[in-house]
Amino acid sequence: MPLKELAERRNILHRKSDAKTILKHALDDVQIGQTALVSSFGAESVVLLHMVAQINKATPVIFLDTEMLFEETSQYQRDVAQSLDLTDIRIITPDRNEVLVSDVDGLLHQADTSACCHLRKVKPLADALRNFGGWISGRKRFQSGARADIPHFEKDARKIKINPLANWTRDDLSAYMSTHKLPRHPLVAKGYPSIGCMPCTTRVGAHEDPRAGRWRNAKKSECGIHFEDGKLIKSGVAA
Ligand code: SF4
Repeated sequence: MPLKELAERRNILHRKSDAKTILKHALDDVQIGQTALVSSFGAESVVLLHMVAQINKATPVIFLDTEMLFEETSQYQRDVAQSLDLTDIRIITPDRNEVLVSDVDGLLHQADTSACCHLRKVKPLADALRNFGGWISGRKRFQSGARADIPHFEKDARKIKINPLANWTRDDLSAYMSTHKLPRHPLVAKGYPSIGCMPCTTRVGAHEDPRAGRWRNAKKSECGIHFEDGKLIKSGVAA
């Protein structure tokens, strides 16, 4: 079945399903194939990580270590993986030779954020996902911009991308973390409601959009892992 049609069918099937039901189906769906959770271990990542751990602790979890992260993120990744007992964390780093050729001094982000994100995120993730039929993302519609109308299932290049939290609100996330007593990323309390690489993430004011600190003062608002050929991937029926 064409992937676009598969995504549309799953969106219709799950138009009233909750996040955990969608997640469980995605992890068991033979038509999608093996599925991995891609997690930044950022400000809200612990919600999906906790749900996945409840379904199957051996689910592959891909963590992109761009080698530009805050040390707090790396420590949080280790702590959360251990506390949830996730057994298949795959830490992906940029290709060493490509970094030596394109960003030996680690300053590419100052000259060309798109090239840097491609080198440190897009390419390594594409390589890591090569043998998977689907991947799970933590994007939410309330994050607005390119995310305002994301469906639960969508075609993404030659895979299915699943967004189980697409219709969650900020309050839903806070309530889930409180109910399950989940640890918060330490930088959230220091004014970082959205956390990416250290050079491209700043604190956010109380009345700013939570993602305002990502690539501040630049036109860029996404790293590129949710784009194909420079275009935002959108398909399927919004659930
Ligand atoms: S977010 Fe910044 S440092 Fe990280 S990969 Fe993209 S441009 Fe490079």
